[in-house]
Amino acid sequence: MEKRIAICPGSFDPITKGHLDIIRRASGLFDEVIVLILVNYAKSNTAFTPAERVELARRVTKDMPNVRVDFFGGLLADYASHVGACTLIKGLRAVSDFEYEFQMALTNKKLCPTLETMFMTTDIKYMYLSSSIVREVATMGGDISEFVCPEIIDDIRRRLGPKTEENK
Ligand code: ADP
Repeated sequence: MEKRIAICPGSFDPITKGHLDIIRRASGLFDEVIVLILVNYAKSNTAFTPAERVELARRVTKDMPNVRVDFFGGLLADYASHVGACTLIKGLRAVSDFEYEFQMALTNKKLCPTLETMFMTTDIKYMYLSSSIVREVATMGGDISEFVCPEIIDDIRRRLGPKTEENK
């Protein structure tokens, strides 16, 4: 039977525990899950370069054998056709996510009619969590250990945190 491939697309600037929860749940449903780091023109001022975001995402997903991380600078629908993915997985945190995601799902369906979008509701623990919250708290020197995996905390602190001897 054909391999069922799903894509979890996003900016992942940086990858959070909320993202990981969706990725882990998706990895139980599909043969392969691709965490796809994309360029979002509405979020051009990123804290991490695409290569750094890929590296951070690889580090925190390395225990999931059917998950791989990739970067694509073009259109998501083109990447999905190219790799033969059947589904896009999107996480929904609140009603406020819905309108944009609904519009994106219809656009992607138009561009690639065989591609389905599946929405997963956030784990209630991560409902409030976004990459921008992580960046804000880290910039102010706050504790981000509830928000991101331990393996990447130092990288985020070094990039965004107040410049102390320890963070240089
Ligand atoms: P952000 O909105 O945090 O910048 P991304 O653009 O990287 O996130 O989002 C990638 C995907 O992950 C989107 O489908 C988004 O809805 C989902 N997502 C982000 N944070 C969470 C969370 N805390 N719980 C569930 N899904 C999430």
